[in-house]
Formats: sequence, C-alpha cells, structure tokens
Amino acid sequence: MTTIKNNISLKGYNTFGIDIRAKHLCFYNKPADLKYLITEGPLSRDEKMIILGGGSNQLFTKDFDGIVIHPVNNSIELIRETDEYVFIKVGAGKNWDEFVEYSVNNGYGGIENLSDIPGNVGASPVQNIGAYGMEAKDTIHEVHLVSFHDGSTKTIQNKDCEFVYRSSVFKSKLKNRFLVDSVTFKLSKNPTFITHYGSLQDELNKEEEISLKTIRKTIIKIRESKLPSPTKIGNGGSFFKNPIIPNIHAEPLKAIFTDMVTYPAANDMTKIAAGWLIDQCGLKGYTNEKGTAGIHDKQALVLVNKGKATGSDIVELAEFVKAKVFEKFDICLEPEVIII
Ligand SMILES: Cc1cc2nc3c(=O)[nH]c(=O)nc-3n(C[C@H](O)[C@H](O)[C@H](O)COP(=O)(O)OP(=O)(O)OC[C@H]3O[C@@H](n4cnc5c(N)ncnc54)[C@H](O)[C@@H]3O)c2cc1C
Repeated sequence: MTTIKNNISLKGYNTFGIDIRAKHLCFYNKPADLKYLITEGPLSRDEKMIILGGGSNQLFTKDFDGIVIHPVNNSIELIRETDEYVFIKVGAGKNWDEFVEYSVNNGYGGIENLSDIPGNVGASPVQNIGAYGMEAKDTIHEVHLVSFHDGSTKTIQNKDCEFVYRSSVFKSKLKNRFLVDSVTFKLSKNPTFITHYGSLQDELNKEEEISLKTIRKTIIKIRESKLPSPTKIGNGGSFFKNPIIPNIHAEPLKAIFTDMVTYPAANDMTKIAAGWLIDQCGLKGYTNEKGTAGIHDKQALVLVNKGKATGSDIVELAEFVKAKVFEKFDICLEPEVIII
C-alpha cells in the first residue's frame, strides 16, 4: 500500500528548514509504488513531481502544487563477494552516512572519505557526491532505476552514468525520467587509503594508526569544525559552485589578488574557490536586514537560515552575494543548490 500524505509541511524534509507545504508527499518503498502513482495516483493526472531525498541540496521558495516523492527504502544487502571486493545493494532511502558507517565498521573501503555528507543513498549517483579526494563514481557499480513512463525497472552500469564533477546522466538526459530505487556499490576488502587531501594527512599524523575507522573519525572532526550542522542551523552546504573561468581572465586577477585560491582546470581554464571570492567581499558572517538569513561566519560558501528565513530570503541573499562578487571580480557565481 503506497503511503501518501496531503497538504503537508516539508520543514522537516529539507536541511534549510524552510516551511513550505506540498500538495502530496509520497513515501516510496518499491517500484510498485511508482506504478500506482502513474496509473491511479497523482501522476496519472499529470500533476507536477519532484524527487526529494534528504533535501540537503534543494531550496524551496514556495508551496509545491504537486507530488513530492520521498524514497524511504533503506535496505542494505551484500549480494556478491570475491577475494577482493564486496558488492552491496543499498536502498535509495538509506541515510548516506549510516551506509558509510556500516562499510567502515565491516572493513570495506572506498567511501570512508565521504563520511558525514548529508543526504540519502539515492542522490549519491545523481550528484556524484565527493569530498577529500573521493567521489561516489569510484565505487558505484550499477544503479537500479524505475521509469516514470510505465513503472518498469532497469539497471544501468557505471560507464553509462556519465559521471562528471557533482553531476551525472540522472541530472541531464535522464532527469525526471527515472527514479533511483537502489544503488549497488563495489567496495574493497583491501582498501587503499586516500589521505593527501587538504588537512587530512596532518590530522591523521596525530593518530596511532591509519585505518578506515581513524580516517572516518578524522574527517568527521574536520568537517564539524568547518561546516555548520543542518541539525543546529539550517543550510544546504556549499551554496555556489566553484567558478571555472578562462586562464586569460584568471591570470590578470591572480596578478592583482596574489593569494587568490585557484586550481588548474582542463582546456586552459582555472577553477577559483567561490568561498574565497565571497570572503574577499567582506561577507563572512553577514546577516540580511530582516535578520532571517546570513552567511556562515566560518565558511563564506554556506548560506544559513537564521531561524525564520523563507526560501525567497535565501535566494535574495544569494543574489546579493552574486552581485558583490561580480562587482569586485567580474565573475558570475552559479548556485550548486537546486532552487525550486
Ligand atoms: C552541511 C552540508 C555539507 C555538504 N557537503 C557535501 C560534500 O562534501 N560533498 C558533496 O558532494 N555534497 C555535499 N553536500 C550536498 C548534499 O549533501 C549532496 O548533494 C547529497 O547527495 C544530497 O542528497 P539528498 O538525499 O539530500 O538529495 P536532495 O537534496 O533531496 O536531492 C538532490 C537531487 O537529487 C535528486 N534525487 C534525490 N534522490 C533521488 C532518487 N532516489 N532518484 C532520482 N533523483 C533523486 C533530487 O531530485 C535533486 O535533484 C552537503 C550538504 C550540506 C547541507
């Protein structure tokens, strides 16, 4: 039996903590639930639809006059193993960090650096989540989908997911055509640790040994010291993408701003740390006039709900930030967070 709630607040379903209402909220468990929505439920009446995982990368600006599909299937199943690898199938509704914890506790490597990323497993291939030198694409074996056309199921292999930086085929060609039902990960029984990224190695030097557990513990510690927890203050993580601009535009800027944080990118381009740009505009710790929304005082890339922000307050603040950065650097920031 498919569970659908009507006229419901989504405040508890998005990490910004924005209080908007959805006409319908469907708790998805299995492909038959989607089939029901298509043949008899709201989708048979052509109502609007969005998929909502943990709501940690979506910002709602108004009530949603349609159906929100929220996967809650959270099984973990070891389906196959070899001497070197385990293949684990995980339901889209499983909390991502709980899955990382399970893997680390069982000695399976490949996602430990992705500890403490909010959200659910279903979004991990969509977003190709990444942190500390690891990306979901490196361990995703196959993705199990359900079609919005007829409720049929299909499995696609890693090579067909078109993974790129924080994106995939599920955000482009297949967007709104399929729901991710579950994901099979290929994890290593003899993991190679990736420790060179950022301050990770320095922090790990303080540990007696390097193991999956110490890496996970250290990453959680570093992240907690830098990023506000959505359970304490509403936010969506990095609000803007790091802009990638042509070298001919970046070089003169680097000559003026000698401490500018940049990374080489493909095709004669340079990636610039968006947080650095915002910080240089003096906006770290900024609060809007209404006092409802602001910029985090430790991380300029994070826009926060100070308690009573509407989605529009956050969008207005984002526009203000964009204008300031454009005025100073002639660079246009683009949101990473999906605005609805
Ligand atoms: C404090 C904080 C820190 C963060 N740090 C990182 C980080 O280090 N690295 C990183 O990569 N991200 C980070 N993020 C962003 C976020 O955690 C990821 O993008 C995450 O994958 C979003 O998962 P979610 O379940 O909340 O997805 P949602 O925000 O609900 O959805 C994201 C997108 O995926 C789609 N989607 C979700 N589930 C499904 C499904 N089952 N089938 C099809 N489409 C689906 C949605 O429709 C939407 O388009 C951070 C966010 C916060 C708040």
